[in-house]
Amino acid sequence: AVPLVIAVSTALAAKSGFLIRDRSAFERAKDLTAVVFDKTGTLTTGVFGVTDILAFGGAAEDDVVRATASVEAHSEHPIARGVVRSAEERGIALLPVERFRAIPGVGVEGTVGGRSVRVVGPGYLAESGIDAGDGRIQALQRQGKTVVFLLEDDRLTGALALADIIRPESGEAIRRLKEMGVRCMMLTGDNRDVAAWVAGELGLDEFFAGVLPHEKAEKIREVQRRYRVAMVGDGINDAPALVEADLGIAIGAGTDVAVESADIVLVRSDPRDAAAVIDLAKKTYRKML
Ligand code: ADP
Ligand code: MG
Repeated sequence: AVPLVIAVSTALAAKSGFLIRDRSAFERAKDLTAVVFDKTGTLTTGVFGVTDILAFGGAAEDDVVRATASVEAHSEHPIARGVVRSAEERGIALLPVERFRAIPGVGVEGTVGGRSVRVVGPGYLAESGIDAGDGRIQALQRQGKTVVFLLEDDRLTGALALADIIRPESGEAIRRLKEMGVRCMMLTGDNRDVAAWVAGELGLDEFFAGVLPHEKAEKIREVQRRYRVAMVGDGINDAPALVEADLGIAIGAGTDVAVESADIVLVRSDPRDAAAVIDLAKKTYRKML
């Protein structure tokens, strides 16, 4: 038989906007000591807009946007969507792309008009030994903007800065969890300066930046040496981390992968509901003792 208190909580859970896929996971939620949030799409809306266009070596801004957007048009990544929307807004027609390839956590590449075109993050640039040599870039990153770089035939010809918006509910979610004594962390593939800005805005206890998609589950295992961990994510790049955590919480109606990888699914895209789940579990099982 299902204990009454759990039956009541399950009904309450449905009313509160979350679905419990695994009853034992809900029970585990009472013992959590840390929550790791994905950044893009979870603590932030994941809707990027282009804020700055940098053109190097005499390139024209529109050409930088055209080349970047042409390749990104073949990607589903939130950064790609932002770049393509920006080209549309500027009335820039895109060029055909051959041999498109997406490199998860790194960027995209393809051939445009016989030239190799890559759009990559700062990590790739550093590894290739290319120095952007432009002080504006770090200044943009320190404002929380994600900067991607355009390489044409391995030459740096431009960069775009994109801004995503912190969800207005994220700060309160973190405050509530910290009040419960739960440590709050963030995991992202984005640059350290960008992550530090978001972590500062939200009062996060810790963050991990520049983590490649295949390293995210490993990072969770590391945190598990110190804490009982919930991972909250939208399933874009973080499904294995959702599986690895003591409790996987998928945010929003998000992706199917997220729903399948999670123990608990939040109906809305509101990180406060993750705090509510944990609060409800702690209260439910306290009452049973
Ligand atoms: P997150 O952990 O924030 O979801 P990802 O792992 O998807 O981030 O991406 C990490 C970084 O990889 C991005 O901040 C960006 O620098 C680079 N990147 C990934 N995909 C793309 C893309 N389509 N275009 C440009 N850069 C990309
Ligand atoms: Mg995400």
